[in-house]
Amino acid sequence: MGDDMKNKSIWSYYLNSNDIKVIDEDECVDIVIIGGGITGLSIAYSYLNDNYKVCLLEKNTIGSGITSKSTAKITYLQDGIYSKISKLRSDNDAKLYYESQKEAIDRILKIIDMHHIDCDLKKSDSYLFTIEGNTKTIIKEEKLLTSFGCKIDNIDVLPDGLKVKRGIKCEDTYTFNPIKYLNGLKEIIKDKIPIYENSCVKKIIKKKEYYLVRTNNHTIKAKYVILCTHYPYFLFPYLMPLKCSLEKSYIALFKDNSNINFQGITCDKQTLSIRYVEDKYKLLLINSTNLAYSQNDVANFKNFINNKPEFVWSNIDIITKDYLPYIGLIENNFYIATGYNTWGMTNSMLASLIIHDLIDDKNNKYSKLVDPKRKDNLIISIKYPLYLINNIYSFLNSKIIKNKNWYSNKVRFEKINGIGIAIYTDDFGEEHKVINKCPHLGCSLIFNEIELTWDCPCHGSRFDLSGNSIEGPSNYNITYKG
Ligand SMILES: Cc1cc2nc3c(=O)[nH]c(=O)nc-3n(C[C@H](O)[C@H](O)[C@H](O)COP(=O)(O)OP(=O)(O)OC[C@H]3O[C@@H](n4cnc5c(N)ncnc54)[C@H](O)[C@@H]3O)c2cc1C
Repeated sequence: MGDDMKNKSIWSYYLNSNDIKVIDEDECVDIVIIGGGITGLSIAYSYLNDNYKVCLLEKNTIGSGITSKSTAKITYLQDGIYSKISKLRSDNDAKLYYESQKEAIDRILKIIDMHHIDCDLKKSDSYLFTIEGNTKTIIKEEKLLTSFGCKIDNIDVLPDGLKVKRGIKCEDTYTFNPIKYLNGLKEIIKDKIPIYENSCVKKIIKKKEYYLVRTNNHTIKAKYVILCTHYPYFLFPYLMPLKCSLEKSYIALFKDNSNINFQGITCDKQTLSIRYVEDKYKLLLINSTNLAYSQNDVANFKNFINNKPEFVWSNIDIITKDYLPYIGLIENNFYIATGYNTWGMTNSMLASLIIHDLIDDKNNKYSKLVDPKRKDNLIISIKYPLYLINNIYSFLNSKIIKNKNWYSNKVRFEKINGIGIAIYTDDFGEEHKVINKCPHLGCSLIFNEIELTWDCPCHGSRFDLSGNSIEGPSNYNITYKG
């Protein structure tokens, strides 16, 4: 890695750690929102002018989770998603999903416009294309989108000159800076809805008529709980590991003075995603689908970054069995919004519209489509055992992964007093030790040599060099105090 290459997301430089309020007393509210990413903030915004008493709890700082590492395209042209939904559900469901995405985009634009949020919003046409020759998906996508009334253009070369086997272009799509957007939302919301940061929820206790939401030192009593923590950290009652897989992607930003502006994504096995940032960078993303093998992917990624990008980082999102999100009620007055299949800018807004309606007992035309308790058909049910096997495999593999010869000599594993310890020695010779066990479900960790984090190959929890939980379902640190 070059000396001046920054190994964190460009958006993370906009995270605001000033003006932070930590929860300092017990509270009684109608609605507690857990998680301050784009989902939590979008839902909180929807309560700005309501009579409900609402508060939001965020483990770290607003936006610091998956949202700060997104590519932040606001688009309905999403890596062949309509073909996938039509195959696994129906053409009607694909159309309904299309309409939901268009409605979400309109709402994001309205909010940005109404409050003059300075978030580098830019109109940029979307391209879906194949390099590997997956023309079947492009044709199907074109057919579906045309039948939905969407205007499509055929293309065989991208605006940056890249020749593709086949592609389509759609208009009225956008890009923005997701953290500037969230900072804007926080500013609008915070005087009416308390936003507590550095306030991790450790436990949710169900009572007959209400929930008790516990942080380390305080309890919030609430009638409704809305969980927006990306990967729900509890196992029961929802059994998330059986309902989804995780997809890891690597992102690099290269200097670019071409004045070109578009966004694009492939529908190939190896995803390539492109957008432009701040008129000076071209962003490229490649994906890997299996967290357990991510050290191999890091090797691939190192080849990809040989061209000396300015920024590199990785990010993880949740892929559901039928490529539709999980938004809605999972039990008595308890709601979740997750599983966005890497399209969270729009789906977080969709979540805010749906959950608001559900709590108000109003019909919402999309709520059934994305109901987290929706029934699976036979093709989708087959994925249950696959996910179970994959989870067991990831767990077992994590236990032997440390023997593989992937790491530089800066990384080693030891047993100290019977405890498995993972050690990273930095450039100054200082050793950073953490406990080599994810507190979520006990998997061993792999070292992410690009961002210098310890990552769980099973469900995506991530920890910094001191063992602090920075992402994912683990609510506990892996600090080694020996
Ligand atoms: C590589 C990549 C590229 C992407 N690109 C796009 C794109 O171009 N367009 C698009 O639409 N989508 C994109 N996405 C998807 C999108 O970024 C995510 O779906 C979205 O950001 C998820 O937002 P969230 O608020 O649900 O989760 P997060 O942003 O992770 O927010 C969850 C928050 O909950 C907090 N939290 C966790 N546990 C607790 C707890 N116990 N107590 C309190 N708080 C807690 C976390 O700290 C975090 O801040 C991409 C995803 C990936 C992986």
